[in-house]
Amino acid sequence: MPAETTTAIRTCPLCEATCGLELTIAGDRIVKVRGDADDVFSKGFICPKGASIAELHDDPDRLRAPLLRRPDGGFDEVSWDDAFAFIDERFRAVEGEHGRQAFGAYIGNPAAHALGALLYGRVLLKALGTRNVFSASTVDQMPKQLSAALMFGTGLSVPVPDLDRTMHLLVLGADPLVSNGSLMTSPDARGRLRGIRARGGKLVVVDPRRSRTAREADEHHFIRPGGDALLLMAIVHTLFDEGLVSPGEHLAPYLLTCLLLDRLKASAPARVVTVSSDAHRAGRMDFDDLQAQHGYSGIRAYAQSKLANILFTRELARRLDGSTVTANALHPGTVRTGFAREDAGGLMRLALRVGAILMKSPEQGARTSVYAASSPALAHVVSSTWMRCFTPARSAVRATALGVVGGSGRLWSSRRAPSATSPTTWFFFSRRRRHTSSSTVSWARRCV
Ligand code: SF4
Repeated sequence: MPAETTTAIRTCPLCEATCGLELTIAGDRIVKVRGDADDVFSKGFICPKGASIAELHDDPDRLRAPLLRRPDGGFDEVSWDDAFAFIDERFRAVEGEHGRQAFGAYIGNPAAHALGALLYGRVLLKALGTRNVFSASTVDQMPKQLSAALMFGTGLSVPVPDLDRTMHLLVLGADPLVSNGSLMTSPDARGRLRGIRARGGKLVVVDPRRSRTAREADEHHFIRPGGDALLLMAIVHTLFDEGLVSPGEHLAPYLLTCLLLDRLKASAPARVVTVSSDAHRAGRMDFDDLQAQHGYSGIRAYAQSKLANILFTRELARRLDGSTVTANALHPGTVRTGFAREDAGGLMRLALRVGAILMKSPEQGARTSVYAASSPALAHVVSSTWMRCFTPARSAVRATALGVVGGSGRLWSSRRAPSATSPTTWFFFSRRRRHTSSSTVSWARRCV
């Protein structure tokens, strides 16, 4: 009598696409694999690797227990205790004879998708103390991870495009139709890229060869092999040359607000909510050295940027007087965003890590922003109201005490902004229109 079948919904562990699987199981065997049509992300897609996961599971060559090589080249199955005892003995012998650099490690895709390897792999490598770590990722994705680490603090925080909402995808040095999107974590990359074109978007590929993705693209730009650095520098040059870049965490939102102001007024009632911080109390505006070129301190720059945000809000509120666009600034509380972790020195870093236990979660920290942007109670509250969490209080007192009230207009008219290291966030809300980043870019183009 055939075994009764059950269905299990699982996530494919074989690559970053994390497709949903629907497994039909009879006894202890997988008898059928198909994509999980109800998976909100992969929507039923699986690739040949995922479809073969039962064969992988049942492969007679699959290692199920430690094997120890015999002198004749064959293998004996041994217990885990015996295996670890042997590893311990050989590690010590190799280290004693050749030193730690005699060890090498190779890390591949399976290690990135196995919890044990994720948790303990780095610990093992640290304990080994070897510099000889090899990985296939150095061939393709490491530059992306390095840039992510420099920008966001960790090489695993790789930004990915939102393919389902993208209208213009520029593909540089990638062939997602072959890689299935890989780091983009996009099951059915082909379907998603075709979706961009189906909704009127555009796919542009830069590649020295006519790749599979290039064959499906609206535009394919050949460049000479090795010329990609020049192309990228030319793009950077154009961005600066045509004034399309707004550097600085205070200046960029300031510029963006200026560019959006007419539209905000036209779509009023609307609100501009600026996230500042209580750290503004320690801020000082040095208009002769806004970039802190005569002595930089991360904490001072942080406090200065927060004060600049309040001054900006005050001046914005003054300029909006008579309109139904409101301008307010708020303090979200001390939020566990990981801020300053990279810049801080040893003791401060330790203090931030320990203090993180007492900090608010990002969700809690966002509540004041959401409240300020959406609460009917604040619909007409205007003129640089300072909201500390849910408790409104006037910022004017503090600003006066700091002797910078007159600085609002001066900062506004200054085309140079203080350098800032803080993750300042700015929100723009309008009842009639939600401004998108792509339209922001086009406004920026027109206004600059
Ligand atoms: S693309 Fe293939 S290997 Fe990757 S998660 Fe989906 S089914 Fe698995």
